[in-house]
Amino acid sequence: MNCIKCSKSIDPYKGSMVMLDDALWVIVARNAGIKKSDSMCADCIELAMGRKIKESDFMSPQIRHVKIIPCNSIFLDKRKVRS
Ligand SMILES: [Zn+2]
Repeated sequence: MNCIKCSKSIDPYKGSMVMLDDALWVIVARNAGIKKSDSMCADCIELAMGRKIKESDFMSPQIRHVKIIPCNSIFLDKRKVRS
């Protein structure tokens, strides 16, 4: 999977992939001029948002006993950000 903006590879194990809250993603995609079904790397998402991604921006997992979606957890670990 590649970023539609910068065409960089989006790797969930390297912290370039995040899964945002659906309502937020709709706004970010609209701001970036892309479709909701398109994929964008974390850097381009932050450019489109005009700020850094924080934990409260993330989608809640729909899976029991999972507190945070794995790629989002990896992103936070790589960036060392918590909100
Ligand atoms: Zn990108």
